[in-house]
Amino acid sequence: MSREVRVRFAPSPTGPLHMGGVRTALYNYLFARRHGGKMILRIEDTDSQRFVPGAEEYIIESLKWCGIEIDEGVGVGGPHAPYRQSERKEIYLKYAKQLIDAGWAYYAFDSAEELDALRKEAEAAGQTFAYNYTVREKLATSLSLSKEEVEARIARGDQWVVRFKMPENEVVEMDDLIRGHVKVNTSTLDDKVLYKSADALPTYHLANIVDDHLMEISHVIRGEEWLPSLPLHYLLYRAFGWTDTQPEFAHLPLLLKPTGGGKLSKRDGDKMGFPVFPLFWTSPTGETAHGYREDGYFAEAFVNMLALLGWNPGTEQELFTMQELIDGFSLDRVSKSGARFQPDKAKWFNAQYMHRKTDEELATLFQPILKEHGVETTDYLAGKAAGIMKERASFITDLWDLTSYFFVAPTSYDEKQAKKYWKGENPARLKEVREVLASIDDFSLENTEAVVGAWIQEKGYGMGQIMNTLRLALVGAGKGPGMYDVTAFIGKEECLKRIDFLLENLKPME
Ligand code: GLU
Repeated sequence: MSREVRVRFAPSPTGPLHMGGVRTALYNYLFARRHGGKMILRIEDTDSQRFVPGAEEYIIESLKWCGIEIDEGVGVGGPHAPYRQSERKEIYLKYAKQLIDAGWAYYAFDSAEELDALRKEAEAAGQTFAYNYTVREKLATSLSLSKEEVEARIARGDQWVVRFKMPENEVVEMDDLIRGHVKVNTSTLDDKVLYKSADALPTYHLANIVDDHLMEISHVIRGEEWLPSLPLHYLLYRAFGWTDTQPEFAHLPLLLKPTGGGKLSKRDGDKMGFPVFPLFWTSPTGETAHGYREDGYFAEAFVNMLALLGWNPGTEQELFTMQELIDGFSLDRVSKSGARFQPDKAKWFNAQYMHRKTDEELATLFQPILKEHGVETTDYLAGKAAGIMKERASFITDLWDLTSYFFVAPTSYDEKQAKKYWKGENPARLKEVREVLASIDDFSLENTEAVVGAWIQEKGYGMGQIMNTLRLALVGAGKGPGMYDVTAFIGKEECLKRIDFLLENLKPME
């Protein structure tokens, strides 16, 4: 690539960032890093009606959590600051006027009521109203009114907008790095508003193109929902005379519902019990939404899963570090068709990352949960217990159920298990096992296993009966890892205490 790669993630702060948005940011980031380029964060907040307080902070925190680093932009600064469009207000009018002067745009004075009436009129006639070449010379615009009239209206403070003068019946030919060559006839497009005097702000289209140009963006990588805007954007580059430095475009496939049809929405998440947002969100009016982070997902697992929703490495590999994603990422391996989200796969990814965590990492994550349950223990033991059971866990929050008996002696017993094993000869055998255990000095897993195993064999007892009875005493239920993992972990004294407790407190079943 000859040109310096400069990509931008340009969200509008209209609510929590959807996981589809995070994926867009991620692909931009991977592309930037792959090509030694820059990743820019621009906040597109020119639509004051849809602005939601807290959304920008949420976006920034989400990117940070995912490990998506910003080189330039909101919160970081850079040579093209400011990067928040509301702070760039003064920039855009000049460009709108430039288009008017060049005959690519015009003033329109229609009020909201007038436009509404036109829409209703068309509807009544079974048509849809389009503001385009068929009407722009008949309505109150600078194409129909005299120059003096236009100036007079502006001078007396009438509200106006600037609209793009979409050419009539021209085929715009475009190239998309994912979709290939695309053609659209301009007669199907309307005259989009570029600037509004009411709030002295540009609309998305104008601000987006002007900023991509000024910020020297080389590649625009964004969601498929922006593909219909591409012809207008191409024409805007032409109208400004910026085609030489126009960025290349890549429109990413949609994230689809688990059932296939349609875009993945918050409602799907609520219905099926999975988050569609990276972080927990509380709206200014108090509504909340689940987030991957608070639901116990590891950021690495979330990012890994997202990377593969729409991109494939061309191999069987499924687990990737961020660096591996950077090294392997290319836009020609991004699919054209929508990527179906599978909640079970998200869990699977989390489990894979869980299984690969070291005892030390697990200890840090598990300690707060232990504390919540009133367990004070060393990091060594917290990590060890988690390490023994991690293969059966998908989330850190699964660990308490899986390991609580390591830290807390049972005081009640699983009924099914007790009925099955706390009867017949087993209580008497447990007393015998107690004596064997009491005689062992080296309580390591290996030694205890060797001594108790040899004793069972010598006596000709049933291994299963003995082990399950011992399990009832030490764990209180039929769950847990190998019995000697438990004995080694809790130690001799605690083992004997738990056996005695069972012997004293539970009457054998018959
Ligand atoms: N502000 C737009 C959004 O919210 C940006 C689209 C684009 O990347 O051009 O997605």
